[in-house]
Amino acid sequence: MRIVADMWIGGAATPGGGRRVPVANPANCETIDEISEATAAEIDAAVAAAAGAFAGWRRTDAAERAAHLRRLADACEASADELVALLVREQGKPTLEAQGELRHFLAGLRYYAEAATKVRGSYQELPSQFGPAYGLVVRRPLGVVGAITPWNFPLTLLANKVGPALAAGNTVVAKPAETTPLTTLRVAELATRAGLPPGVLNVVTGGPETGEALVANAGVRRVAFTGQTATGRRIMELAGPALKHVSLELGGSDPTIVLDDADLDAAVKNIQIGRYWNCGQACLAPKRAFVQAEVYDAFVEQLVQRVGRYEPGPGDTRAEKPKLRIGPLHTAAQRELLAAQLADAVDGGAKVLVGGEALDGPGHFFQPAVVIDVPAGSRLATEEVFGPVLPVWRVESLDEAIERANATEYGLGSSIWTRSAVAIDRATRELEAGVTWVNQLHYGYDELPFGGTKHSGLGREHGLEALAEYTEPKSVVVGGLG
Ligand code: NAD
Repeated sequence: MRIVADMWIGGAATPGGGRRVPVANPANCETIDEISEATAAEIDAAVAAAAGAFAGWRRTDAAERAAHLRRLADACEASADELVALLVREQGKPTLEAQGELRHFLAGLRYYAEAATKVRGSYQELPSQFGPAYGLVVRRPLGVVGAITPWNFPLTLLANKVGPALAAGNTVVAKPAETTPLTTLRVAELATRAGLPPGVLNVVTGGPETGEALVANAGVRRVAFTGQTATGRRIMELAGPALKHVSLELGGSDPTIVLDDADLDAAVKNIQIGRYWNCGQACLAPKRAFVQAEVYDAFVEQLVQRVGRYEPGPGDTRAEKPKLRIGPLHTAAQRELLAAQLADAVDGGAKVLVGGEALDGPGHFFQPAVVIDVPAGSRLATEEVFGPVLPVWRVESLDEAIERANATEYGLGSSIWTRSAVAIDRATRELEAGVTWVNQLHYGYDELPFGGTKHSGLGREHGLEALAEYTEPKSVVVGGLG
């Protein structure tokens, strides 16, 4: 039985005519639904619907757009149980984590509902050689936004794009990951039922080919992408010839530094939550830990003890206390990649202190691991590790920690655990990353700009900065003054 429409175009469920691909539950590999890969004509139709709706949507009052975003959030909240259950089934995460993701999604939409009415331009006195004049800088929406999201946080990453795009007066064609299309399609349906004008939010489904066709479509003026660094490079190539606006939220290998004077309990607890949340499949997780010599043994001991409590299992069942539920990896390929990265470190002399095994049976389960003595050149150190494995290195000093933290092509997040103002100041200035958390969990706040440096991306999501990226400034010169 079908759960959602094939696609959502122009405010209506739209049957797809393309190749059909099953959507599987990562916890048991059973098919829960299927998608239709969008054909070129279907992508054209979705972009045309968005372009048609843009003419009216851009002229709506900002307060009206804000009200629409609030109604969308309210409608999703009213369907919270259904959306959470759908997310657990298609993504694999535990119910508690899916509920957290839904709350973050709603907060993101409501943040931009608030922000919609706060967009400001500016006034500028001008030299009067051509007669008295002044200048204004007004902000205009861009047009149709192609929003491409990955499978790890299908809802929050959708809000990061749809929220600011619609608030600023743009319209959207969203393309969720081919393995997690269901919640996005349901959100589009709820949006229509909540009164969002037809064509303002459209959804097409499919994999890389669909994504490429959407990016390359002449009607799309801005591409908002979250996914792998390699995909981000390809998107820039495709968007380049038509000079499209692009934001790229890409991979990360966040370092976390724990110094001798840290609150060790807080550090261990928050690094554990950050690394193993969502079965380690988060862009902004602490993925490499550098711990100062004096507290290294205690840190490792406490972390191993806590990580040993994880019990992999289906997201819709709870673990018996003191065990902690952790869901499966999202796909078989993700699990194979993780196992290969870990095996490479072990071949180089690393020691796995807890976990590290792929579990038998249906579902892509993996016992979370802590690893030490990982060679600096091994895959665990140099590649993005998208699963529940944390390498921990002993460092002698802050200098060494910062140098090793920066020895990566990535630059998404970073964190430091210390009570020293001097160390905090150095970390803030010297860690090459879009965010540095100080004595805090790696978490993406709606209120603050989030994004990467180096190969972790371009542009920012969240905050008023992201809203600005969905508009372009236009200068207006006003003369004829008296
Ligand atoms: P991915 O790049 O494989 O896919 C992401 C999306 O892009 C999917 O919808 C996919 O169908 C589409 N896509 C794939 N190839 C494409 C192409 N050539 N052209 C256009 N679209 C294409 O990424 P993934 O494996 O689904 O997601 C995991 C990655 O996302 C990790 O690297 C993770 O760090 C990153 N991520 C980054 C952030 C961030 O904010 N920086 C947040 C979450 C995830």
